[in-house]
Amino acid sequence: MSLKKIHQIKEKYGTDDIVEMVHTFLTEENAQNQQRRIEEGRLGKFYPSSVGRCQRAVAYQMQGYPTKPINGQSLLIMENGTSFHNRMEDIFERMGILIAPELSLKHKELRISGRSDAIIWNFLLDKGEPPGEEISLFRKEQVEIQEGDELKKVEEDIEVYRGPNNHILIVEFKSIKSKNFHKLPKTKPEKKHEMQLQLYFKLTGIRRGLVYYENKDTQETKYYFVEYDEAMVEETIAYIKDIIRYVDGHDLPEREGNPLDIMCRYCDFRNICHIPVSEEEWLSIYFDEQEDAA
Ligand code: SF4
Repeated sequence: MSLKKIHQIKEKYGTDDIVEMVHTFLTEENAQNQQRRIEEGRLGKFYPSSVGRCQRAVAYQMQGYPTKPINGQSLLIMENGTSFHNRMEDIFERMGILIAPELSLKHKELRISGRSDAIIWNFLLDKGEPPGEEISLFRKEQVEIQEGDELKKVEEDIEVYRGPNNHILIVEFKSIKSKNFHKLPKTKPEKKHEMQLQLYFKLTGIRRGLVYYENKDTQETKYYFVEYDEAMVEETIAYIKDIIRYVDGHDLPEREGNPLDIMCRYCDFRNICHIPVSEEEWLSIYFDEQEDAA
């Protein structure tokens, strides 16, 4: 049995070292997940974390354009972001302030079907503040149901909170690079993150929240308190509706960057949006350009 297992591993990874094996595995797993999303008809959905991204990139994603394969290193960085969420939710739970680690979000017209980060008790509530509007919030949970002789797993909406909307806060966790952490504005989060929270306010009825940042290199943390802002909610909705209009017309918004912009370099759709160049070519063009400009 053990020799058979070792043989299978060698067959799959050949002479790769353990780092290359991890990267290969993650890249393949990500490609399979992407394929599954397409097969399950999950194209055309708008993900709240896309708010503020280049509209053309979001339209590519919603229409199922192929992305360049995501390398193992980048996928490890993403896993680190997910671990930050899980870690914080676990700490909030142990502190006794967590209500739910996530909420299920739905909006037919905005093509949203996803989930938020955590909701917690509003420790900032002013003494004597009257209860706000009553809301109900749900999260998706897998439950087992008996169908004939078979036990099937299905997702169901489970109520996690019913009560005044000012007694809770919604928290969005963001794990970012040291360079960006030190560039964060003084009083507000990055605009795209504030827009994401405003979208959550619109979808849930909650009116206050936090954007909670971690410097992924040092684990320093910083948070910003955000309140419902009608004008920003409108701006966010207009941004999403604009993209949906292009998607429904099988069209694409204008490019928001040129091939040498950093936003395009890290965009998954770079090679279909601009003339395809390899990573090495891009680096040589980029650095020559910077030197010419100096
Ligand atoms: S390559 Fe640049 S312009 Fe094109 S979709 Fe990506 S970010 Fe937008």
